[in-house]
Amino acid sequence: MLQLSSKLALCSLPLALFAVGSAFGQGQQDFSAVQIKTHQVAGNFYYLEGQGGNVGVLIGDDGVLMIDDQFAPLSEKLQAAIKALSNKPIRMLINTHVHGDHTGGNENFGKLGLDIVAHDNVRVRIAKGVNGAAPSPAVALPVVTFGDTMSLHLNGETITIGKLPPAHTDGDSYIHFAKADVIHAGDVFRTTGYPGVDGGNGGTVKGTIAALQALVDMAGPNTKILPGHGVVSTRDDVARFRDNTIEAQRRFTDLIKKGMTVEQVIAANPTADLATKFITTAPPPDKATTDRFITAFYNAVKSEL
Ligand SMILES: [Zn+2]
Repeated sequence: MLQLSSKLALCSLPLALFAVGSAFGQGQQDFSAVQIKTHQVAGNFYYLEGQGGNVGVLIGDDGVLMIDDQFAPLSEKLQAAIKALSNKPIRMLINTHVHGDHTGGNENFGKLGLDIVAHDNVRVRIAKGVNGAAPSPAVALPVVTFGDTMSLHLNGETITIGKLPPAHTDGDSYIHFAKADVIHAGDVFRTTGYPGVDGGNGGTVKGTIAALQALVDMAGPNTKILPGHGVVSTRDDVARFRDNTIEAQRRFTDLIKKGMTVEQVIAANPTADLATKFITTAPPPDKATTDRFITAFYNAVKSEL
């Protein structure tokens, strides 16, 4: 039951899944060279780095709890990395949000018989098909959904999964591990990208600022915060990301109120000095990445005035 069948190994998702949504972490199409690196965060909590969102892994006698699952072609590699940590079955899989670089393996892992857990809106959006992708089969859908918060009690941990304000999307969850003092923040916080506001999936700038504040409020000075992409960070890192997001919101608001079009704001690049403050563990963004950020952020700020 824990082995992915050869039939599953051969399955491939429609190319459309990878061709769309490039602003939100959709990766390259050739995954053959991707290697999974395992990092210990605290106690029995780890994260796996491959291609796509960071995969959280809590191990223990009760079984493995997994957070996010990258892209479908990586399911076997992720499963092998988890097996190297624990010989227990993967019992549950939490999706932090809808994007394909965090949920692409749902079908493969769902077929193992585990329970997928996510916010109500994640199930609705995956069922319809995210960013123009085909609707997902039932086995890829969360079977346990929640509206506000829910708690899990596994492996000696008290785990709280909670909805954040509509930030990156309208189904963003944080996952808090009380004993390990760890929070998986999903893509609300990243160290490798600008604030990612996916208006097409319900994300907002105001909600991003509120969600970052919520993460700061629930963290302590020693809490380890795992971003959706990037490296383990601190409460102060999230606070800085919040402050820079507020500053970007202020600058965009001023320019929009002056009547500037999105093309004019792209030309002005008013947050050029903030790029390397947002993106601290990846190379500085290229022009296309910056232009995508400005377009999404401009449209969101304008719609929220
Ligand atoms: Zn995302």
